[in-house]
Amino acid sequence: MGVAARSRLSETGVVLRGLQAFRSDLVTAVGLVLGLSFLFVPTLRAQRTQLKPGLNIFNPQQDIEIGKRVAADAEKQLALCNAPKVDAYLTQLGSRLAQKLPTGSVQYPFEFHCVNDKAINAFALPGGFVFVNRGAIEVAGDEAQLAAVMSHELSHVALRHGTTQATKAQLAQGVLGIASGILGDTTGGTLLTELGVFAAGGVLLRYSRAAESQADIMGTQVLYDSGYDPRAMAQFFEKLEAETKGKNPPEFFSDHPSPEHRVERVDEEIDKLGGVPSNAKRDSADFEAIKREVLALPIVKKPVPGEPSVAAAPASPSGSFAAYQAGAYSLKYPDNWKKYPDSDGGGVSFAPERGVLDDGSGHSALAYGLIVSVTKTKVDPADANALQDATRKVIEELQQANPNMKVTHASERVRLNGQPGLSTYLSNDSPAGGQETDWIITTLRPEGVVSFVCVAPLSAYGNYDKTFSTILDSVRFAH
Ligand SMILES: [Zn+2]
Repeated sequence: MGVAARSRLSETGVVLRGLQAFRSDLVTAVGLVLGLSFLFVPTLRAQRTQLKPGLNIFNPQQDIEIGKRVAADAEKQLALCNAPKVDAYLTQLGSRLAQKLPTGSVQYPFEFHCVNDKAINAFALPGGFVFVNRGAIEVAGDEAQLAAVMSHELSHVALRHGTTQATKAQLAQGVLGIASGILGDTTGGTLLTELGVFAAGGVLLRYSRAAESQADIMGTQVLYDSGYDPRAMAQFFEKLEAETKGKNPPEFFSDHPSPEHRVERVDEEIDKLGGVPSNAKRDSADFEAIKREVLALPIVKKPVPGEPSVAAAPASPSGSFAAYQAGAYSLKYPDNWKKYPDSDGGGVSFAPERGVLDDGSGHSALAYGLIVSVTKTKVDPADANALQDATRKVIEELQQANPNMKVTHASERVRLNGQPGLSTYLSNDSPAGGQETDWIITTLRPEGVVSFVCVAPLSAYGNYDKTFSTILDSVRFAH
């Protein structure tokens, strides 16, 4: 079962900013009737912000060579989504956006990859190698918001921020002599051998705040010129801010200007561009289909070099059982499962090895196994609905922590060690990808409501059903 901190994909709370400014047809005609347009336009509207790459000791061809080598290394180190449809979609969307980069910027051979990482992040290496985390696709409310992230990254490439940053690092080290050497070396090899290929990525991606702000501004222009609602840029920041509240900010956020300031600057640029066009694109059926595909991808932990990148499913539950004794009850669980005491006390979980996964944001989530909790409640023995009410509360609490959890079979009466209980089936997003089944048995005891939550991915549930029944049949209450 997922944990409290799972990403919510709801669109609520997104504040729409930016002016719905009216864009006169005269504005587009400006170039044709210069004299006339002067009368109507310039006093109201500033020009779009002009941005140029900064000081750089590398040439654009070296950007490509450096980027290619770091990208090849990154592809080995990162878990890619390995979803051809998703990569094809990112390539199609990214190429469309790249065409709208300011004319005069170098034509880079853009490449786009989906990374199987739930952290909300994206990055671009010099020369046009763009990596988009599944987390960024999953959190984007529509195509315009994903296009916003990608436009931001494409702008880093066009403005050559990676090698500008490397230039600064080289100059700061007083290695001007080496710099001239690098200039003569078309592969950018000196930088790479000095730093190690992947470590070079660290230097290449450590952008300044000014660079981030430039990528926001140019990204907004690209969005606008591609026909997307340019407000999507600010909306994505706000979403990112909401998603990461109270948690460690993802990399995409860490080095960026404060979100309020970013939103303000983006809004300013939208005004300069002439406001939000009335027919601006927001979403597409393609995006929604790709997002569904990404949400269903198996979750992969960051691979340790030398280990297979896809986490294998746990071994089948053992037919031999171990005994567990708590104060209020005892039970038997498969002897190849481990026991995880609940840090809050009052609860315990049993799960196979690889049954507890990282949900992608650094939190543990149980994908296979059993969670037992005892919630202290005062029970009126005369109240015929007490069990029903208590069960409803247990489910509501689970749903608060797991917004996508739904009841699939309404509660039915069962007996657990001779005691009246309720059995309820629910579905939820599985941290292993796809859907999971949650079978919940609740019963009232003098200690409070005791709930047994049996969890397995929907696709594997058939292998666990019998084990769950055996565990529940083994439950003995203390008195
Ligand atoms: Zn950036």
